[in-house]
Amino acid sequence: MVLVGGGHAHMTILKKLATFVKCGHRVTVIGPSPHHYYSGMGPGVLSGIYRPQEVRFHVKKMVEDRGGSFVLGSVARVDPESRRLFLRSGDEIRYDATSFNVGSHVPVEPLTEEENVLTVKPIENLLKARQMILDFISSGQPKLVVVGGGPSGLEITGNIWRLVRDQGAEAQISLLAGPRLLSRFPEKVRRLAMDSLAARGIEVLEGVHVSRIEGGCAILADGREYQYDLALLAWGIKPSELFLQSGLPTGEDGGLLVNEHLQSVTYPEIFGGGDCISFQRHPLDRVGVHAVRQNPILYHNLLATLEGGRLQSFNPNDTYLLLFNLGDGRAIYWRKDRVWAGGLAFVFKNYLDKKFMRKFQVSGELREH
Ligand SMILES: Cc1cc2nc3c(=O)[nH]c(=O)nc-3n(C[C@H](O)[C@H](O)[C@H](O)COP(=O)(O)OP(=O)(O)OC[C@H]3O[C@@H](n4cnc5c(N)ncnc54)[C@H](O)[C@@H]3O)c2cc1C
Repeated sequence: MVLVGGGHAHMTILKKLATFVKCGHRVTVIGPSPHHYYSGMGPGVLSGIYRPQEVRFHVKKMVEDRGGSFVLGSVARVDPESRRLFLRSGDEIRYDATSFNVGSHVPVEPLTEEENVLTVKPIENLLKARQMILDFISSGQPKLVVVGGGPSGLEITGNIWRLVRDQGAEAQISLLAGPRLLSRFPEKVRRLAMDSLAARGIEVLEGVHVSRIEGGCAILADGREYQYDLALLAWGIKPSELFLQSGLPTGEDGGLLVNEHLQSVTYPEIFGGGDCISFQRHPLDRVGVHAVRQNPILYHNLLATLEGGRLQSFNPNDTYLLLFNLGDGRAIYWRKDRVWAGGLAFVFKNYLDKKFMRKFQVSGELREH
């Protein structure tokens, strides 16, 4: 069995990997880093609420401690007919059953490749952004721009404010929120977010479209120019392009097309979860909540594929809770029609996030540097 990506949807398999090994299966996990960062706590790492080691899983250690092999690398292509994975390094790995949890990325090309423009995924970029902001504020008042008015744009903006404030420094922070801040949420969520940012002197621009980012300047469709020392892009995500490039059946957005068993609609030995899949029954919001809920199904179905047994179905519940970390010790709670904000909402978010981390982190991880 080969797992491609040790992301949020593979955590249960990683934790129970020994079950596969005890049954006599060889398990290999491929990932571009020994660690996987939990996105829900990413903005808190940017501001310094959390240390990096508090928000990451040591995937390599999880795998090796349980009898599997970890391959540091990135899969560039799949040949589903010969059941082979081709890595960017040039190596090939064969599989009998495989599962993809390779996530999504913020599309940037052909907009820019500048050093002072970072996408909010992978979460490791937020560590870079933190260091860059610390360097900027040590010698002046930088212009920091976040592009994208969804939940991650909001959280990143609020947490940049906290980072600057905690250093006793000043910066000009702007959020270029696209047509409307938090447009897919009820008006009350938007208002709470707006009020929170405005009260801290953060500029929020709605009704704007960034058409180019170049040379330290975000150029809006109406010709206005916005200068920045650092720009963080949070303008939406796309699933990994691995499946399109491999000629596997995909949904309209390029995600691996899977049935209710989280199984490729054409190749029964291929599974997938998280942001990289397109669920055939109906599109799923690309939120970590779904990836987390897919864990037990992927675990069961991979074991059933290798050992024989009935597959289980994933029944997505489209009602889920989101808690937005505003960076000022408060959060916005949103679940369907229930919306409120305050310190208690952040306490709740912090509790849930830490509980998730504790469930899967290997011992000794917090002592790492
Ligand atoms: C700042 C921010 C905050 C967020 N907060 C929340 C939140 O509070 N709640 C929520 O529900 N959602 C949140 N989200 C959304 C959430 O990030 C995604 O839905 C979630 O990350 C999806 O998990 P995943 O495991 O599918 O993908 P990812 O987290 O992207 O993980 C994919 C993994 O695959 C690896 N990988 C990638 N390509 C390859 C390859 N070619 N070969 C091998 N391995 C590969 C990566 O290294 C990574 O470890 C947030 C997103 C952002 C950007």
